[in-house]
Amino acid sequence: MLELNLRRQNSKVEICPKCGLPLAACVCGEIAKTQQRIKVTTEKRRFGKVNTMISGFDNDVDIKEIAKKLKIKRACGGTAKNKIIELQGNHVGHIKRILVAEGFSEDQIEE
Ligand SMILES: [Zn+2]
Repeated sequence: MLELNLRRQNSKVEICPKCGLPLAACVCGEIAKTQQRIKVTTEKRRFGKVNTMISGFDNDVDIKEIAKKLKIKRACGGTAKNKIIELQGNHVGHIKRILVAEGFSEDQIEE
């Protein structure tokens, strides 16, 4: 009877499809953060405006969430799509510090 209960409990545990660990113990998202190489560049837009592009994120990273934090910290507008964050204005020199605070490691970011 006890065994049956245990089995029933185990079947409720959600398993990460990537590493096979229970989601509570899964670190795939953290690993993804340390393996990618992130690039910060600028792109000229119409009317002489310059935007900051942050690219190189892995699929596992929630870039919408990161974009939200960058926009708040830099007090600017921006978008997050196709794994690229685009911020309005030139923010080169400020992005790395914010991403490091978000758990990325300094040497994986080219700014
Ligand atoms: Zn996992």
